[in-house]
Amino acid sequence: MYSSRKSINRAHLFCTIQETKITVHKTSNVKFYSTNSLRQFVTLHEAVLRGLAPDNGLYMPASIPALPPTVIASFSNLSLQEISWAVTSHLLHEDLPEVELRKIVEHTIGFDAPLVPIEEHVFALELFHGPTLAFKDFGARFLAGLLGYFAAREDRQVTILVATSGDTGSAVANGFLNVPGTRVVVLYPKDKVSEIQEKQFTTLGANITALEVAGTFDDCQRMVKAAFLDQELRQKLFLTSANSINIARLIPQSFYYFYAWSRMRAEKPVVFSVPSGNFGNLTAGLLAKRMGLPVHHFLACTNINDVVPKYLAGGLFEPRPSQATISNAMDVGNPSNFARMLELYKHSPAAMKRDISGFHFSDDETRAAMQKVFQSAKYVMDPHGAVGYLGLKRYQQDHPNIAGIFLETAHPAKFKKTVDATLSGEVAIPPPLLKFLSRAKRSICIGNDFEDLKDWLNKAID
Ligand SMILES: *Cc1c(COP(=O)(O)O)cnc(C)c1O
Repeated sequence: MYSSRKSINRAHLFCTIQETKITVHKTSNVKFYSTNSLRQFVTLHEAVLRGLAPDNGLYMPASIPALPPTVIASFSNLSLQEISWAVTSHLLHEDLPEVELRKIVEHTIGFDAPLVPIEEHVFALELFHGPTLAFKDFGARFLAGLLGYFAAREDRQVTILVATSGDTGSAVANGFLNVPGTRVVVLYPKDKVSEIQEKQFTTLGANITALEVAGTFDDCQRMVKAAFLDQELRQKLFLTSANSINIARLIPQSFYYFYAWSRMRAEKPVVFSVPSGNFGNLTAGLLAKRMGLPVHHFLACTNINDVVPKYLAGGLFEPRPSQATISNAMDVGNPSNFARMLELYKHSPAAMKRDISGFHFSDDETRAAMQKVFQSAKYVMDPHGAVGYLGLKRYQQDHPNIAGIFLETAHPAKFKKTVDATLSGEVAIPPPLLKFLSRAKRSICIGNDFEDLKDWLNKAID
């Protein structure tokens, strides 16, 4: 059994939001445009319900209003939930009634995100204390709240299609379980997700269905995208997406950047190292920076699926089929949020490189890092967090006076086989995961063609 380390920031988390402490800073309504047609604006309601824009682009905020520095400075006295409320009300206060928005934030941020010191100037931001033990709980719960609110105002049931390499499916399925007016269809690649991951979205029943696709994650993602472009399906069903192409997933992921930064006491410049697959998490950090968070630099860290680090090293952006690794939630060959990153930097590689450096690591390097940190600091990293740790260490070699936070994106028990084999130990399975493991899996096997998905949707949903 591994010991867990004490974090430096457990204080008053579960208290409800105390309005008196928060300076809510209100600017006018944020509108959203599609990355493929820069001149048409939609409301949050439409961007969230649609997921993907009708022209196949991704929605982006047309303006990103900055929070005043005094407000950001005040965050060091606020809890994660309070900071989340300050950021949300700043961005979205005109889009739904304040009580509803507040309920959504309180529901989303019902757990801690401890910042744990690992080595000098190296901190892990543990984002895995939600119900499915990965950072995707933040985005999925917030999205379920917003979509549930907007779906209740539609006359049709909303069908949420989600492609998963493991963690998204579990977070989305659990976030939407029994949300009225919604139905979730999870597509996942057969034999390419861990048993623990699979059990978290194949055992729920109710409004959740799991489709086991004979293919890769990229196939699942392609099939979902094709469904959105299919006029026939769109007429029949109200389809939307819960992948990180939905802008509502990204907004709550900016909260923990503010929170972590506010706990650093700012003696040194702070960099965030983000283990990345579809680059939603990193894009949320970039949004936080646009909202005024004084982050020094971001590190985009991948496994061997390194199309973004290649671009940042001066190459072209060349999507290619993904390859399987031990950090399987990052096995993405065509990262969807790259389109958003390009927008944020007006398609200038030079501008992007001023804010972001890219790194990629092999499975052997990842395992070696997990072993080293376990031996020296008695801290168990999961394979994804370990990739972030590696990027941070590499960056700090050339930038010694920088404090770094790497995002620990999943609990190590979610990748138990790899972690146990790498550390020659037994990572204990936390009770929420044990509960899932004891249940029976129910899934429907389909091929990796869009037509397979379409047939099934046509038959199953009316
Ligand atoms: C999804 C996921 C990632 C990758 O996050 P993106 O936002 O897709 O870049 C990293 N680690 C874990 C554990 C994940 O589940």
